[in-house]
Amino acid sequence: MSSPDTNATIAALLRDLAQAQKSERAGFGYKRAAKAVLHLDVPIETLVKPDGSLTKIPNVGPKSEQVIREALAAMQRDGGPATPALSPTVEQAIEASGKGKDIERRRGLRAHFLSRSRVLAALRDTSLIGPRLEDYRGDLQMHSTWSDGSQTLEEIVGTGIERGYEFCGITDHSYGLPIAGGLSMEKLAKQHAAIDKLNRKHRGTFRLIKGIEANIRADGSVDMTTRELAKLELVVAAPHSVLRSPADQTPRMIGAVETRGVHILGHPRGRIYGSRPGVTAQWDAVFDAAARTGVAIELDGDPARQDVDFALARKAVDAGCLFALDSDAHSPPELSNAEIAIAHARLAGIPAERIINCWPVQRLLEWLDERRA
Ligand SMILES: [Zn+2]
Repeated sequence: MSSPDTNATIAALLRDLAQAQKSERAGFGYKRAAKAVLHLDVPIETLVKPDGSLTKIPNVGPKSEQVIREALAAMQRDGGPATPALSPTVEQAIEASGKGKDIERRRGLRAHFLSRSRVLAALRDTSLIGPRLEDYRGDLQMHSTWSDGSQTLEEIVGTGIERGYEFCGITDHSYGLPIAGGLSMEKLAKQHAAIDKLNRKHRGTFRLIKGIEANIRADGSVDMTTRELAKLELVVAAPHSVLRSPADQTPRMIGAVETRGVHILGHPRGRIYGSRPGVTAQWDAVFDAAARTGVAIELDGDPARQDVDFALARKAVDAGCLFALDSDAHSPPELSNAEIAIAHARLAGIPAERIINCWPVQRLLEWLDERRA
């Protein structure tokens, strides 16, 4: 696992090239090519044919292919990890665009994102001590048609059973986030009745957990009252504001993990691939607080989030934290995002014992209940 993630490196170059275009529209094709490379199952160097040509990749045009060849040649020549300067095509485009500074900034916002081929490699690598796919019993962050998701509760049960899960946590947004269709307490009560009905139907085989994704306000409080939180079996608290400020927000994040009733600190930074840095904090102090209060640190598997990633997760391992590995799915196919979180957990060396998704459902439910507000 020490070799560079070639696909991630090349995708980043294609994103740079997209950014260097005059308009977003003109950059669209390169962005799509970057996505195609990030989603490949195999390292791109294995697609080079004996005659030196590249196997056709859907959505990768001639100019993108040229960037790929340049980067692969440079990586082979230098032996080490590629630096962005290794594609003359991209460098010239950046130079001509006058957007060098912005592109440089964005390059800094792609650290420790894994390509799909690297995720698959981490899942296969038996030298890693983290959780195996078969250790993973259920997913604890996802969204349904009740807020901003496009999957019904029935579909979630179906997908969960298909994936071999024993449970899924439904964590639609709280009313504090109206932009994401946040649920009023009245709507939440109706959702709970619908969940109860499904749980009766699947009793003994599958369990939906009544959760919420609550919002961490800038002052570190959570946007629901203790009495409201107590109505929920599972509370994921996550930041959705002040995600671009370089100012330290350690007290905010500590405030969240010290809030009674919070089970999981969801996508702790709130970063987005290549565009948003997320919360700045002294994470060692936040993880120490989470270890003390028993709040699980989430590895959010949304490909654009990957938050926390394996590198930051190692600090939380050292601090003694519990963990949650979640898909943050908004549609059925996105439940597979959990595999990205599992790959990060393996690279971080998180023991399965410390991952609440790997616990038997009864143990998980007891733990959730003990921590209820
Ligand atoms: Zn969120």
